[in-house]
Amino acid sequence: MLHIGCHLSSSDGYAAMGEEALRIGADTFAFFTRNPRGGNAKPMDEEDAAVLREMLKRECFAPLVAHAPYTYNLCSDKERNREFAMESMTEDLARLEHLPGNYYNFHPGNHMKQGAEAGIAMVADALNELLWEDMHTTVLLETMAGKGTEVGRSFEELRAIIDRVRLSDKVGVCLDTCHVYDAGYDIAGRLDEVLGEFDRVLGIGRLKAIHINDTKNPFASHKDRHAQIGKGFLGIEALGAVVQHPLLRELPFILETPQPDNDGYAEEIRMLREIASGR
Ligand code: FE
Ligand code: FE
Ligand code: ZN
Repeated sequence: MLHIGCHLSSSDGYAAMGEEALRIGADTFAFFTRNPRGGNAKPMDEEDAAVLREMLKRECFAPLVAHAPYTYNLCSDKERNREFAMESMTEDLARLEHLPGNYYNFHPGNHMKQGAEAGIAMVADALNELLWEDMHTTVLLETMAGKGTEVGRSFEELRAIIDRVRLSDKVGVCLDTCHVYDAGYDIAGRLDEVLGEFDRVLGIGRLKAIHINDTKNPFASHKDRHAQIGKGFLGIEALGAVVQHPLLRELPFILETPQPDNDGYAEEIRMLREIASGR
Protein backbone atom coordinates (compact mmCIF):
# COMPACT_ATOMS: atom_id res chain seq x y z
CA MET A 1 0.00 0.00 0.00
CA LEU A 2 1.18 3.49 -0.85
CA HIS A 3 2.27 5.48 2.22
CA ILE A 4 1.02 8.98 1.72
CA GLY A 5 -0.06 12.05 3.63
CA CYS A 6 0.30 15.78 3.61
CA HIS A 7 1.54 18.67 5.64
CA LEU A 8 -0.75 19.15 8.68
CA SER A 9 -1.08 21.99 11.14
CA SER A 10 0.28 21.20 14.60
CA SER A 11 -1.73 23.97 16.27
CA ASP A 12 -4.09 21.49 18.00
CA GLY A 13 -1.31 19.19 19.12
CA TYR A 14 0.06 15.80 18.17
CA ALA A 15 -2.92 13.50 18.68
CA ALA A 16 -5.13 15.87 16.69
CA MET A 17 -2.75 15.55 13.72
CA GLY A 18 -3.01 11.77 13.90
CA GLU A 19 -6.83 11.97 13.94
CA GLU A 20 -6.85 14.38 11.02
CA ALA A 21 -4.48 12.15 9.05
CA LEU A 22 -6.84 9.19 9.53
CA ARG A 23 -9.82 11.31 8.50
CA ILE A 24 -8.24 12.21 5.15
CA GLY A 25 -6.94 8.71 4.38
CA ALA A 26 -3.29 9.41 5.20
CA ASP A 27 -0.88 6.97 6.85
CA THR A 28 1.97 9.44 7.28
CA PHE A 29 2.16 13.23 7.53
CA ALA A 30 4.45 16.21 7.86
CA PHE A 31 4.25 19.03 10.38
CA PHE A 32 6.31 22.03 11.34
CA THR A 33 8.21 21.43 14.54
CA ARG A 34 7.20 24.97 15.49
CA ASN A 35 5.68 28.14 14.07
CA PRO A 36 7.38 28.60 10.66
CA ARG A 37 7.81 32.31 11.32
CA GLY A 38 10.06 31.45 14.24
CA GLY A 39 9.22 32.22 17.82
CA ASN A 40 9.11 29.84 20.69
CA ALA A 41 7.82 26.32 20.44
CA LYS A 42 5.06 25.33 22.81
CA PRO A 43 6.33 23.21 25.68
CA MET A 44 6.32 19.51 24.90
CA ASP A 45 3.07 17.82 25.96
CA GLU A 46 4.28 14.33 26.77
CA GLU A 47 0.83 12.87 27.22
CA ASP A 48 -0.27 14.19 23.82
CA ALA A 49 2.84 12.70 22.23
CA ALA A 50 2.12 9.35 23.92
CA VAL A 51 -1.40 9.29 22.46
CA LEU A 52 0.02 9.92 18.97
CA ARG A 53 2.71 7.26 19.44
CA GLU A 54 0.04 4.72 20.33
CA MET A 55 -2.07 5.76 17.34
CA LEU A 56 0.84 5.52 14.90
CA LYS A 57 1.49 1.97 16.04
CA ARG A 58 -2.13 0.84 16.13
CA GLU A 59 -2.94 2.27 12.70
CA CYS A 60 0.34 1.10 11.11
CA PHE A 61 1.53 4.55 10.04
CA ALA A 62 4.67 4.86 7.94
CA PRO A 63 7.37 7.13 9.42
CA LEU A 64 6.37 10.76 9.82
CA VAL A 65 8.40 13.49 8.14
CA ALA A 66 8.61 16.49 10.46
CA HIS A 67 9.71 19.69 8.70
CA ALA A 68 12.01 22.29 10.21
CA PRO A 69 10.76 25.88 9.71
CA TYR A 70 12.03 27.53 6.50
CA THR A 71 13.53 30.33 8.53
CA TYR A 72 16.38 28.18 9.80
CA ASN A 73 19.60 28.83 7.95
CA LEU A 74 22.59 26.84 9.14
CA CYS A 75 24.86 28.53 6.57
CA SER A 76 23.77 32.14 6.96
CA ASP A 77 26.40 34.86 6.69
CA LYS A 78 25.09 36.19 10.02
CA GLU A 79 26.27 34.40 13.12
CA ARG A 80 23.06 35.25 14.96
CA ASN A 81 20.99 33.43 12.31
CA ARG A 82 23.22 30.39 12.39
CA GLU A 83 22.96 30.29 16.17
CA PHE A 84 19.18 30.61 16.03
CA ALA A 85 19.03 27.64 13.66
CA MET A 86 21.36 25.60 15.86
CA GLU A 87 19.42 26.31 19.05
CA SER A 88 16.07 25.63 17.43
CA MET A 89 17.20 22.42 15.77
CA THR A 90 18.74 21.19 19.02
CA GLU A 91 15.36 21.68 20.70
CA ASP A 92 13.40 20.15 17.80
CA LEU A 93 15.55 17.03 17.78
CA ALA A 94 15.27 16.67 21.57
CA ARG A 95 11.50 16.91 21.27
CA LEU A 96 11.33 14.38 18.45
CA GLU A 97 12.86 11.79 20.78
CA HIS A 98 9.29 11.58 22.15
CA LEU A 99 8.25 10.33 18.70
CA PRO A 100 11.11 7.92 18.00
CA GLY A 101 11.74 6.38 14.60
CA ASN A 102 10.59 9.28 12.47
CA TYR A 103 12.26 11.79 10.15
CA TYR A 104 13.23 15.44 10.54
CA ASN A 105 13.53 17.15 7.19
CA PHE A 106 15.24 20.50 6.69
CA HIS A 107 16.42 22.79 3.91
CA PRO A 108 20.22 22.87 3.94
CA GLY A 109 20.05 26.66 3.75
CA ASN A 110 21.11 29.71 1.76
CA HIS A 111 24.80 30.50 1.58
CA MET A 112 24.05 34.21 1.02
CA LYS A 113 26.79 34.63 -1.60
CA GLN A 114 29.46 33.03 0.58
CA GLY A 115 29.62 30.29 -2.05
CA ALA A 116 28.20 26.78 -2.13
CA GLU A 117 31.40 25.26 -0.81
CA ALA A 118 31.39 27.46 2.30
CA GLY A 119 27.68 26.75 2.77
CA ILE A 120 28.23 23.01 2.51
CA ALA A 121 30.99 23.15 5.13
CA MET A 122 28.81 25.15 7.53
CA VAL A 123 25.86 22.79 7.20
CA ALA A 124 28.10 19.77 7.76
CA ASP A 125 29.79 21.39 10.78
CA ALA A 126 26.36 22.15 12.22
CA LEU A 127 25.22 18.54 11.76
CA ASN A 128 28.37 17.35 13.48
CA GLU A 129 27.27 19.34 16.53
CA LEU A 130 23.58 18.46 16.29
CA LEU A 131 23.66 14.69 15.83
CA TRP A 132 24.42 12.18 18.55
CA GLU A 133 25.13 8.48 18.59
CA ASP A 134 21.90 7.00 19.95
CA MET A 135 19.36 9.49 18.65
CA HIS A 136 16.10 7.97 17.32
CA THR A 137 15.45 10.37 14.46
CA THR A 138 16.97 10.35 10.99
CA VAL A 139 17.66 13.86 9.72
CA LEU A 140 16.81 14.44 6.06
CA LEU A 141 18.40 16.97 3.72
CA GLU A 142 15.85 18.20 1.19
CA THR A 143 16.71 18.49 -2.51
CA MET A 144 16.31 22.17 -3.40
CA ALA A 145 15.24 23.99 -6.58
CA GLY A 146 18.37 26.15 -6.69
CA LYS A 147 16.55 29.43 -6.14
CA GLY A 148 18.89 32.28 -5.16
CA THR A 149 21.79 30.97 -3.09
CA GLU A 150 20.15 27.73 -1.98
CA VAL A 151 22.48 24.92 -0.98
CA GLY A 152 21.36 21.43 -2.03
CA ARG A 153 20.53 22.23 -5.64
CA SER A 154 22.28 19.10 -6.88
CA PHE A 155 22.80 15.56 -5.65
CA GLU A 156 26.53 16.35 -5.55
CA GLU A 157 26.00 19.21 -3.08
CA LEU A 158 24.03 16.92 -0.78
CA ARG A 159 26.72 14.28 -1.11
CA ALA A 160 29.39 16.84 -0.20
CA ILE A 161 27.49 17.66 3.00
CA ILE A 162 27.00 14.00 3.97
CA ASP A 163 30.66 13.21 3.24
CA ARG A 164 31.71 15.63 5.97
CA VAL A 165 29.26 14.37 8.61
CA ARG A 166 30.71 11.98 11.17
CA LEU A 167 27.43 10.23 12.11
CA SER A 168 26.34 10.01 8.50
CA ASP A 169 24.09 7.01 9.20
CA LYS A 170 21.76 9.52 10.91
CA VAL A 171 21.43 11.48 7.66
CA GLY A 172 19.18 10.76 4.68
CA VAL A 173 17.64 12.67 1.79
CA CYS A 174 14.09 13.79 1.07
CA LEU A 175 13.47 14.25 -2.64
CA ASP A 176 10.98 16.99 -3.54
CA THR A 177 9.55 16.36 -7.03
CA CYS A 178 8.86 20.06 -7.65
CA HIS A 179 12.32 21.07 -6.49
CA VAL A 180 14.33 18.51 -8.47
CA TYR A 181 12.42 19.25 -11.67
CA ASP A 182 12.95 22.98 -11.12
CA ALA A 183 16.62 22.22 -10.41
CA GLY A 184 17.03 20.52 -13.80
CA TYR A 185 16.48 16.80 -13.10
CA ASP A 186 13.99 15.61 -15.68
CA ILE A 187 11.85 13.25 -13.61
CA ALA A 188 9.02 13.65 -16.13
CA GLY A 189 10.96 12.44 -19.16
CA ARG A 190 13.78 10.41 -17.61
CA LEU A 191 12.82 9.19 -14.14
CA ASP A 192 14.94 6.04 -14.33
CA GLU A 193 18.03 8.01 -15.37
CA VAL A 194 17.53 10.55 -12.58
CA LEU A 195 17.18 7.78 -9.98
CA GLY A 196 20.25 6.10 -11.46
CA GLU A 197 22.14 9.34 -10.99
CA PHE A 198 20.83 9.65 -7.42
CA ASP A 199 22.08 6.12 -6.77
CA ARG A 200 25.52 6.81 -8.25
CA VAL A 201 26.01 10.07 -6.36
CA LEU A 202 24.24 9.43 -3.05
CA GLY A 203 23.28 5.77 -2.96
CA ILE A 204 19.57 5.00 -3.28
CA GLY A 205 19.53 3.81 0.35
CA ARG A 206 19.89 7.45 1.45
CA LEU A 207 16.52 8.27 -0.05
CA LYS A 208 14.05 8.13 2.85
CA ALA A 209 11.05 10.24 1.81
CA ILE A 210 9.43 12.01 -1.14
CA HIS A 211 7.70 15.38 -1.23
CA ILE A 212 5.20 14.83 -4.00
CA ASN A 213 4.28 18.15 -5.60
CA ASP A 214 3.54 19.43 -9.05
CA THR A 215 5.30 22.60 -10.18
CA LYS A 216 3.99 25.93 -11.48
CA ASN A 217 7.13 26.45 -13.56
CA PRO A 218 8.74 24.68 -16.50
CA PHE A 219 11.77 22.41 -16.35
CA ALA A 220 14.98 23.82 -14.82
CA SER A 221 13.36 27.15 -13.89
CA HIS A 222 14.96 27.28 -10.39
CA LYS A 223 11.76 28.83 -9.03
CA ASP A 224 10.18 26.53 -6.39
CA ARG A 225 6.45 27.15 -6.62
CA HIS A 226 4.32 24.10 -5.92
CA ALA A 227 1.18 23.24 -7.89
CA GLN A 228 -1.64 20.79 -7.19
CA ILE A 229 -1.08 17.25 -8.47
CA GLY A 230 -1.79 17.14 -12.19
CA LYS A 231 -2.18 20.93 -12.49
CA GLY A 232 1.43 21.82 -13.19
CA PHE A 233 4.30 21.12 -15.55
CA LEU A 234 4.97 17.64 -14.14
CA GLY A 235 1.44 16.36 -14.62
CA ILE A 236 -0.42 13.33 -13.38
CA GLU A 237 1.36 10.84 -15.60
CA ALA A 238 4.85 11.76 -14.37
CA LEU A 239 3.76 11.93 -10.72
CA GLY A 240 1.86 8.66 -11.09
CA ALA A 241 5.08 7.06 -12.34
CA VAL A 242 6.87 8.38 -9.23
CA VAL A 243 4.44 6.76 -6.76
CA GLN A 244 4.54 3.50 -8.73
CA HIS A 245 8.30 3.30 -9.17
CA PRO A 246 9.75 0.12 -7.64
CA LEU A 247 12.63 2.08 -6.02
CA LEU A 248 10.25 4.62 -4.47
CA ARG A 249 6.91 3.03 -3.76
CA GLU A 250 7.71 1.88 -0.21
CA LEU A 251 8.76 5.38 0.93
CA PRO A 252 6.54 7.90 2.74
CA PHE A 253 5.11 10.44 0.26
CA ILE A 254 4.18 13.89 1.55
CA LEU A 255 1.96 16.33 -0.35
CA GLU A 256 2.86 20.02 -0.03
CA THR A 257 0.51 21.27 -2.72
CA PRO A 258 -1.42 24.53 -2.34
CA GLN A 259 -4.88 23.56 -1.01
CA PRO A 260 -7.71 25.62 0.49
CA ASP A 261 -8.25 22.91 3.13
CA ASN A 262 -7.36 19.33 4.03
CA ASP A 263 -10.20 17.94 1.92
CA GLY A 264 -8.14 18.97 -1.11
CA TYR A 265 -5.39 16.70 0.22
CA ALA A 266 -7.89 13.90 0.88
CA GLU A 267 -8.77 14.01 -2.82
CA GLU A 268 -5.11 13.95 -3.93
CA ILE A 269 -4.39 11.08 -1.53
CA ARG A 270 -7.34 9.12 -2.90
CA MET A 271 -6.27 9.77 -6.50
CA LEU A 272 -2.62 8.78 -5.95
CA ARG A 273 -3.61 5.67 -3.98
CA GLU A 274 -5.80 4.64 -6.89
CA ILE A 275 -2.94 5.11 -9.37
CA ALA A 276 -0.48 3.27 -7.11
CA SER A 277 -2.81 0.31 -6.74
CA GLY A 278 -2.97 0.07 -10.53
CA ARG A 279 -6.71 0.55 -10.79
FE1 FE B 1 10.71 21.75 2.31
FE1 FE C 1 9.40 20.13 -0.05
ZN1 ZN D 1 9.25 23.98 -2.24
